Amino acid sequence: MTDAILLTPGPLTTSAETKAAMLSDWGSWDAAFNALTASVCSDLVDIVDGRDEHVCVPLQGSGTFAVEAALGTLVPKTGKVLVPDNGSYCKRIVRILGYLGRQAVVLAHGEQEPADPQRIEAALAADRSITHVAQVHCETGTGILNPLAEIASVVARHDRGLIIDAMSSYGALPIDARTLRFDALIAASGKCLEGVPGMGFVIARRTTLGGASGNSASLAMDLHDQWQYMQKTGQWRFTPPTHVLAALRAAVDQYRAQGGRPARLARYTANCAALVGGMRTLGLKTFLPDALQAPIIVTFHSPPDPAYDFADFYRRVREKGFILYPGKLTAVDTFRVGCIGAIGADTLRAAVTAIAASLREMGVVRLGST
Ligand SMILES: *Cc1c(COP(=O)(O)O)cnc(C)c1O
Repeated sequence: MTDAILLTPGPLTTSAETKAAMLSDWGSWDAAFNALTASVCSDLVDIVDGRDEHVCVPLQGSGTFAVEAALGTLVPKTGKVLVPDNGSYCKRIVRILGYLGRQAVVLAHGEQEPADPQRIEAALAADRSITHVAQVHCETGTGILNPLAEIASVVARHDRGLIIDAMSSYGALPIDARTLRFDALIAASGKCLEGVPGMGFVIARRTTLGGASGNSASLAMDLHDQWQYMQKTGQWRFTPPTHVLAALRAAVDQYRAQGGRPARLARYTANCAALVGGMRTLGLKTFLPDALQAPIIVTFHSPPDPAYDFADFYRRVREKGFILYPGKLTAVDTFRVGCIGAIGADTLRAAVTAIAASLREMGVVRLGST
């Protein structure tokens, strides 16, 4: 039986080559594995043109582990973090700061409103004690794109630290460390690089990370310690996710062979256009206007028809070979469809066909107007 296509933004559908890379066992002390780690980390810095000023620190676990590790390591115990909030991953950062005992200042936005650089500027000017801004680039909860370059220049102008959750954008949307100043940029193996889940990583400014010893209250999540140990020994502290790293090596090789970041963005943009175009032809409505939509994941309004039920819809689309995502909004009933993974526009068109057939079977006739 072939696997269902994952239209979810991590885990996502991976290529046969990436899956095949997991068929070997690696020794964590072995020189060949250390070389694999070093080569992947070096490529991950290159993808954002980080050069010598930035280092990559990998960390075992899902993306949230790396977000928590970056905040806990780079924000000192007396730090205060401004969090522009327009969705669920922003709210997760606020929760993490609470667990870490770091002060958070929430700058509330609507879920259809991109983070506003002018409001961020005003908040920084009004409160000199804010030390950092934690910004989600693409808010995967809705799919909205936040204006990262403008926000980074505001934060740099006010001389505060910037910690970016670029989990669902890194590798696809443009991020250039030569022009965009940040302390840390966080992403993971199983998103736009199309590896398997299990490893996060932080691209950190070398000087900032160098000064971050003693901040972390957690040993396992101390990125400074992980980095120091890796520099000394070439090894990970604690058991590394060997198969995940081998798969990521293969995924990054394919990424480069396919044309790198511009090619990845072009494919996702075509995927998103095929999806949104097809769904609109059916009569379904997107939650976001096109101008705010990142080509990563699309939120659709649930059909306003009494015959519609997400669990039933999900099961029928699943039977046809596609896995959808529930919505993450509290106020409106929605579902989400991912555009990322080792898939092309034909796959998204086939998914729209499966969605249309499923809604027909359910007797859903009102698709759009509310
Ligand atoms: C996927 C994702 C994360 C990490 O989520 P995990 O479930 O821990 O992998 C964090 N932020 C954003 C914006 C994401 O898309």
